[in-house]
Amino acid sequence: MATPRDHAPLAERVEELLAAEGPLPIVAAGDPVLRRGTERFDGQLDPALLARFVEALRVTMHAAPGVGVAAPQVGVELRIAVIEDPAPVPDEVRLARGRAPQPFRVLVNPSYEPVGSQRAAYFEGCLSVPGWQAVVARHAQVRLTGEDEQGRALDEVFTGWPARIVQHETDHLDGMLYLDRAELRSLSSNASMAERWTQSTPEEAAKELGFELP
Ligand code: ZN
Repeated sequence: MATPRDHAPLAERVEELLAAEGPLPIVAAGDPVLRRGTERFDGQLDPALLARFVEALRVTMHAAPGVGVAAPQVGVELRIAVIEDPAPVPDEVRLARGRAPQPFRVLVNPSYEPVGSQRAAYFEGCLSVPGWQAVVARHAQVRLTGEDEQGRALDEVFTGWPARIVQHETDHLDGMLYLDRAELRSLSSNASMAERWTQSTPEEAAKELGFELP
């Protein structure tokens, strides 16, 4: 059982991080903080500090830009992530990938389980693995449980691209990177992506690079 004393260093570290204005620096793959997993959030940050931390995550996500940021990506081992996706994509991509706009959300102590057995495979990337993308087959639909930043229970089914985002961010909180689940033969630089793999589905990439789709 954690005591308030045990909580002090984490809160102090977050205070230090927030002392600088603007987006927080994003930790890159290779830093053990992305691999250690996280503590459940249990009041380690008081409500005012939690609100400031969540706001800093939001600013960092927007600046990147990205559609989600998990606390370990800014070096904080707490089970907290933020997501938001305005989905600025052509209708064709939106339809193929189910990339519906996802309003800003704070995920506290999230975990997910699959709904049904359908899987969807698309290229995805990660702010902690800059310059690269790879195809990941993920559950097409998941049930996400946890809390929001006010401590209210969260129990929601996500589909399409938002389902992918919540799986990616929750995995970060368990010390996983998307590459752990990726088709490594699909690994493509951002330059290759722009030149070759702009199609709305990865079928052509699968054929040319030699990997299986579900
Ligand atoms: Zn990521």
